[in-house]
Amino acid sequence: MKVPLLDLKPQYLALKHELDAAVLAVCESQQFILGPGVKALEAAVARDSGCTHGIGVSSGTDALLIALMVLDIGAGDEVITTPYTFFATAGTIARVGARPVFCDIDPATFNLCPQAVQRFIDRDCELRDGVLVNRRTGGRIKALMPVHLYGQLADMPAFMKIAQRYGLRVIEDAAQAIGAADEHGRRACSYGDIGCLSFFPTKNLGAFGDAGMCVTNDAALADRLDIFRVHGSRPKYYHAFIGGNFRIDELQAAVLNVKLPHLDAWSAARQRNAEIYFDAFDKAGLGSRVTPPPRAPRGARHIYNQFIIRADDRDALRQFLTERQIGTEIYYPLPLHEQQCFAYLGHAVGDFPQAELAARSTVALPIFPELAEEQLRHVVDSIAQFYRSRA
Ligand SMILES: *Cc1c(COP(=O)(O)O)cnc(C)c1O
Repeated sequence: MKVPLLDLKPQYLALKHELDAAVLAVCESQQFILGPGVKALEAAVARDSGCTHGIGVSSGTDALLIALMVLDIGAGDEVITTPYTFFATAGTIARVGARPVFCDIDPATFNLCPQAVQRFIDRDCELRDGVLVNRRTGGRIKALMPVHLYGQLADMPAFMKIAQRYGLRVIEDAAQAIGAADEHGRRACSYGDIGCLSFFPTKNLGAFGDAGMCVTNDAALADRLDIFRVHGSRPKYYHAFIGGNFRIDELQAAVLNVKLPHLDAWSAARQRNAEIYFDAFDKAGLGSRVTPPPRAPRGARHIYNQFIIRADDRDALRQFLTERQIGTEIYYPLPLHEQQCFAYLGHAVGDFPQAELAARSTVALPIFPELAEEQLRHVVDSIAQFYRSRA
């Protein structure tokens, strides 16, 4: 039995009629840039995220980049984030000329740990004229950028308290968490100044290529985002700011407008798949050799962009599963503080032990909505078989 990590074809085939018609309609209109489909998508996604404004952009990465730009974050500034995330989170901070400041993760959720952030501030920072300054580097700490990794919200109430205490901006990297909510019922992107979403094809709401969105409850920031995504120009050809070409395509918006009404059902299917895994792992009696993720808190809405287990002998297990045509992936094999491009930050192995342990010991299992129960049980049976073969 084959179990791919992700197969986008069943979703396409189920909606093929509508999707093909929507793409064709854009072709017939010949309106490719910031047309009615983009406007409709922005309104719907903002509403779904508990926000008043949506600004469609060219990718999740560009959503993060433009968010940093409109908040005037640049040279001499620092942004606190997690070392255990997709590269774009810290890559965009560095690209605007700011310094990524890493703090360790919570080992249960893999999300940035608020206590670790507070410890960093207590140990290394001081308020000077109301500005939080990193005493070691002299940089101004301007913002927090938590990531809602794998589809589960970071501890936003705790981060908002820290932000208020020290006058920091908050950018939520919700690239993996569209429609997720915490146990207070608050949606991803509804806490911070700007929330950043990705519609990369493998995300829960995937375009036919690259696309993303910034959402916010701040009308002035929404206006700046709207200006910055067209080279900072308003009116056309008059530039008060240096922005960029960060526009979303009308074709992508057309695809996403067809898919968006199905997102809740897809998220529910991912949650059902997670429950099947929880049940199968409970019954498999693997003891401490496999640790499934903890169940989301009661009332929270985890959207399972990924289902991540900790596993003994992770690399050998992966090899075993690959040979049995079961797809897996490692998100992410090398924490960002150990990446060559960030060597100038001066970190060493051992600086963020929880992030390093997660990178060494976790593996993602197939969780996409269209999987059948027998496929999911086969994945767990195969994992049990691997450990039995090595007992
Ligand atoms: C996917 C992802 C991004 C980048 O999104 P793209 O649309 O691929 O540019 C940023 N942050 C995280 C956490 C992601 O998973």
